[in-house]
Amino acid sequence: MQNNIKSTNQSFSQRVLTWFDLNGRKNLPWQLNKTPYTVWVSEIMLQQTQVKTVIPYYQAFMQRFPDVLSLANAPQDEVLHHWTGLGYYARARNLQKAAQIIRDEHQGAFPEQIEQLIALPGIGRSTAAAILSLACGQHHSILDGNVKRVLARYFAVEGWPGNKKVETDLWQYADSLTPKNRTADYTQAMMDMGATLCTRSKPQCDICPLHTDCLAFVQGRQTELPHKKPKKTIPIRSTIMLIPMWQKQLLIYKRPPSGLWGGLWGFHEVEHAQQIVERAASLGFNDIQQQTLSPFRHTFSHFHLDIQPVVLHLKQQPIGQVMEDTQMWYDLTEPQNVGLAAPTKKLFSTINTSF
Ligand code: SF4
Repeated sequence: MQNNIKSTNQSFSQRVLTWFDLNGRKNLPWQLNKTPYTVWVSEIMLQQTQVKTVIPYYQAFMQRFPDVLSLANAPQDEVLHHWTGLGYYARARNLQKAAQIIRDEHQGAFPEQIEQLIALPGIGRSTAAAILSLACGQHHSILDGNVKRVLARYFAVEGWPGNKKVETDLWQYADSLTPKNRTADYTQAMMDMGATLCTRSKPQCDICPLHTDCLAFVQGRQTELPHKKPKKTIPIRSTIMLIPMWQKQLLIYKRPPSGLWGGLWGFHEVEHAQQIVERAASLGFNDIQQQTLSPFRHTFSHFHLDIQPVVLHLKQQPIGQVMEDTQMWYDLTEPQNVGLAAPTKKLFSTINTSF
């Protein structure tokens, strides 16, 4: 295998780089005035999200947090607010935690050794390599989802790339193919090839520079490879979200910093309908009228959550209600800068248009 790889190396990277010179993406917002910080933020945003969705989030984020220190010193609510809608909020929490470590342990200077980067929360080997090769020109290979797909097809690698053994093989291919010269361009080129050419469902093999010896193409197995994750049925959980409401104001609370929707604002919940009255009373609402809204499902990577929203219309103006860091009346007519869980945001919009 090694000999074959060696003989393929040069022509592989040369072909990829030639393709990149003509077709690669060079004007994305994070490619202009590149620094490790800008590349880092973009890489984290791009982990589960497409480029066109990321662009406006990235621009707003950079405007508010232009450097590591502004991110480290910001209130967490503001960071999560800028992430609202992108999902996978652990990414935002880790981004800020890592910025605080850089502030406190690296004197605010972005570390430029791969081991130091991998030690930061939310940065794995491939992300660290992407930051250092794209922003600093260091020689590291990457293996994100796009690159895995290109390599799994080019070498017709059997098995799901999330499997440890398959991933190790793919890293070997990635390491052996990454050139010492123009590493940054090659890294970007491989990401671009996976995102624009060797796409999941419609790879454009006819215009791909690798098609002469891409095994998946030669064997007609492009759509079969890489193999999909073995299917597992995910469990269904359910919850009742309580929405105390007075005029256009809704009571929400700040969830604990870790766990589901950690640090985001959401509605109080109960498991069973019989608990609604008691829970409302514990929040100080005795005189209420319940209204059930249409249920909906929110799907996480590891379970479905069936949500039954229940509006608790208050018959009297709430007095003496908590207005602390952990609980607030959210005024739908004057949206506030806080991080919101996706279902909370969805319910705000439903209520805003229905009442
Ligand atoms: S030939 Fe097709 S399957 Fe192979 S790397 Fe190119 S686009 Fe992907």
